[in-house]
Amino acid sequence: LSRISELAVKDELTGAYNRRHLNDVLAQQKAMADRRGDYHFTLCFVDLDFFKRVNDKFGHSTGDHVLVSFSRIAESILREVDCSSRIGGEEFVLLLGGTSQRDALVVAERIAEKLKDLQVSSIEPHYRITASMGITEYRSDEEIDQTMDRADKALYDAKRTGRNRVIIAKSSTDLSV
Ligand code: GH3
Ligand code: MG
Ligand code: MG
Repeated sequence: LSRISELAVKDELTGAYNRRHLNDVLAQQKAMADRRGDYHFTLCFVDLDFFKRVNDKFGHSTGDHVLVSFSRIAESILREVDCSSRIGGEEFVLLLGGTSQRDALVVAERIAEKLKDLQVSSIEPHYRITASMGITEYRSDEEIDQTMDRADKALYDAKRTGRNRVIIAKSSTDLSV
């Protein structure tokens, strides 16, 4: 029975949570933050860099192996209260409970550092797998979609400005800038 309930919330390949479970956790976290002004949580959007090239150069099963490895790295650094989810091919959302965006930045950089050291037997030793990340903290009483959009924009900025970096969303709420 527990295997069945696990399948309902987890991604089969990586063992990360799926989008449905992320949505549930987001709703809980939002409720908690709206109730308690001193509770913070932060989203970190992750997209592996040039992942198509990894597949093309080393094969799809190596690509799969990298996805599993990324997921393990994230899990090894996140805490029990956090939630690591795979929301698309090589896209992950990390939810850090009780964490400000400043502290989340340290966590994200630790993950990036560990990813940099990843060695896969079917990948040339000098080849580096990197990720781009966008971070933002939930802001009191906003819709979760707004938080998600902000993290997505920050991730886009990380890609646009050269990849292999973590960017914190701008504090301005003016989306035109
Ligand atoms: P960027 O740095 O701009 O993110 O470039 P990218 O190549 O990572 O981005 P793009 O969206 O062009 O390619 C994503 C690739 O991820 C294409 C797709 O084949 C691969 N992919 C998606 N899901 C899986 C999967 O489950 N396993 C493997 N091996 N590859 C996957
Ligand atoms: Mg992508
Ligand atoms: Mg990518």
